[in-house]
Amino acid sequence: MPMDHPDTSPSDLAPAARGTAIRSAEVLVTSPDRNFVTLRITTEDGVVGLGDATLNGRELSVASYLSDHVVPLLLGRDAHRIEDTWQFLYRSAYWRRGPVTMAAIAAVDVALWDIKARIAGLPLYQLLGGASRTGIMAYGHASGRDLPELFDSIRHHQEQGFRSIRVQTSVPGIDAVYGVAAQPSSSGRYDYEPAQRAPLPAEEDWDTRAYLRHIPTVFEAVRNEFGPEVPLLHDGHHRMTPIQAARLGKDLEPYDLFWLEDCTPAENQEALRLVRQHTTTPLAIGEVFNTVWDYQTLVREQLIDYVRSAVTHTGGISALRKILDFAAQYQIKSGIHGPTDISPVGMAAALHLDLAIHNFGIQEYMQHGAKTNAVFQQSFTFEDGYLHPGSEVGLGVTYDDDAAARYPYAQAYLPFNRLKDGTVHDW
Ligand SMILES: [Mg+2]
Repeated sequence: MPMDHPDTSPSDLAPAARGTAIRSAEVLVTSPDRNFVTLRITTEDGVVGLGDATLNGRELSVASYLSDHVVPLLLGRDAHRIEDTWQFLYRSAYWRRGPVTMAAIAAVDVALWDIKARIAGLPLYQLLGGASRTGIMAYGHASGRDLPELFDSIRHHQEQGFRSIRVQTSVPGIDAVYGVAAQPSSSGRYDYEPAQRAPLPAEEDWDTRAYLRHIPTVFEAVRNEFGPEVPLLHDGHHRMTPIQAARLGKDLEPYDLFWLEDCTPAENQEALRLVRQHTTTPLAIGEVFNTVWDYQTLVREQLIDYVRSAVTHTGGISALRKILDFAAQYQIKSGIHGPTDISPVGMAAALHLDLAIHNFGIQEYMQHGAKTNAVFQQSFTFEDGYLHPGSEVGLGVTYDDDAAARYPYAQAYLPFNRLKDGTVHDW
């Protein structure tokens, strides 16, 4: 009988030392401040590795992909064979790419890197080449419904140590705008969670012309108040056409942005050519991308300045490292996605990668809530605007089953947009 996949059965890859064979792989779903999906892999010797598989608003699809189709393939494989396992999961499925598949592969990849580093007795960044810097510059999210509230939020971030700040505000005539916290958080933390626990997604409204008129006036006011030095960022959240994005980039040039993020829905990579022709405002894109192929035109034609992918949604440390190495040849830097829907496990993976790569740019950092921090105990530090993954072995994250059990999964959806005439628009 012909063998279609002669090199991919666990028996063919039986580890020389049985101790590093994968004994179990568990898919853990919990919802402390929000939903998280975590993969926990344990070797025969009892070494445990964690991977983040959280896909905001579609969490159970990845949990099912892992439980039903990946976990059975992992049992008995050598945990040391990270690259081989990655290639096996990517190619043997036949159906490649996509957020569900790549989040599942990412969880396996990160868990295996965690295990390898724990066996080595080293923090993970040491296996990625060691530290290339002493700290990881982070940016925080400031927002406000009006300028006084925005200024308070920026000052609060500066008091916390943030040196670089993303600025999002309400827009006159629009009821609910992406990135604007509903009210100042009692904890002092920027407390914006767009995925609401409800059976249906919330409907928001949008008006691009009103947005384009308003945002440059906000940045003018922020520069006047806070001066020329503080790096300022802004997220367009995929809502503009290429020519609208080009106009916004031009209009923001006097305010010297660190970057303008997701100015168009960038699955059409060629759209960025038009934006780039018109503006020198640096561009960042890619939080919804899954593979290097989503960046092919953007990187080769130098249409962007920062890669925004998350470790969690791009096939893990192994795959994102390759994307960033590709980008480095074109002087394009990292800006790894780090909102609260990236679990502390996914954040830790990002921090180890940030510390090791040469072409690091900046790291997004949204602080998790107290319940989340009780489930995921972490070793990272944040001091004077800089993150560091810490000196514990592996990722430096442990999972508390008892704490997690207190927070069962709850259905939650990201919102969606309608224009004034009822047309569905990009959110
Ligand atoms: Mg974004």
